Amino acid sequence: MPARLLLLEDEQAIADSLLYVLRSEGFEVVHHRLARDALAEVERQVPDLALLDVGLPDGNGFDVCRALRRSHGLPIVFLTARDDEIDRVLGLELGADDYVGKPFSPREVCARVKAVLRRTATGARAASSPDVAAGAQAPAHRLLRLDEAHQRIHGPQGPLPLTRLEYRLLAVLLRQPQRIFSRAELMSRVWAEAPDTADRTVDAHVKLVRGKLREAGLPADLIQTHRHMGYSLQP
Ligand code: CA
Repeated sequence: MPARLLLLEDEQAIADSLLYVLRSEGFEVVHHRLARDALAEVERQVPDLALLDVGLPDGNGFDVCRALRRSHGLPIVFLTARDDEIDRVLGLELGADDYVGKPFSPREVCARVKAVLRRTATGARAASSPDVAAGAQAPAHRLLRLDEAHQRIHGPQGPLPLTRLEYRLLAVLLRQPQRIFSRAELMSRVWAEAPDTADRTVDAHVKLVRGKLREAGLPADLIQTHRHMGYSLQP
């Protein structure tokens, strides 16, 4: 079944170019130019993902995002025009899943939408398994903050100097604190798209990440080893 998207964008030319590309990629897209129509649409049928413009004739995308977050856990991608909006979009306040800065290419938007759907589908499956606490939203961590758009993880003193693989490893743990991931699971999630790496061992990378946590003034036992089971992140 094709994924169903809600596009909230008041500029017709932008909407048309997005509709064309998204539909040609097989998505079912419902388009609205007003915030109130988009909210009414979601009440009728919850889409698989919402693409939200910020500046709208009858309000803004931030309020729409908050309303959607309150009532539904659907993934949200923002179409933003200004740099100063990006922090709000990705921060704890709104917690959007991604953003695309204007001007953008419709192909880029399409690629982001696919990536977010892939990512959140995995999360939704994991969240429905009995060993994970309810709620699709990753809880805010006390010491670490995930910035997916920039592929960074922040400690109390700023971004941690992680390599690409270290980032991916810690991000997997951070999305579901306390959940124990087996080495095989971590292998498939972290290393799947990086076949070029020479050193593939999970243990070696956990050791490297712990070293960087320590250097950033964080407790190294934030990542816990579970004998014969795997690793988890302390909340
Ligand atoms: Ca607009």
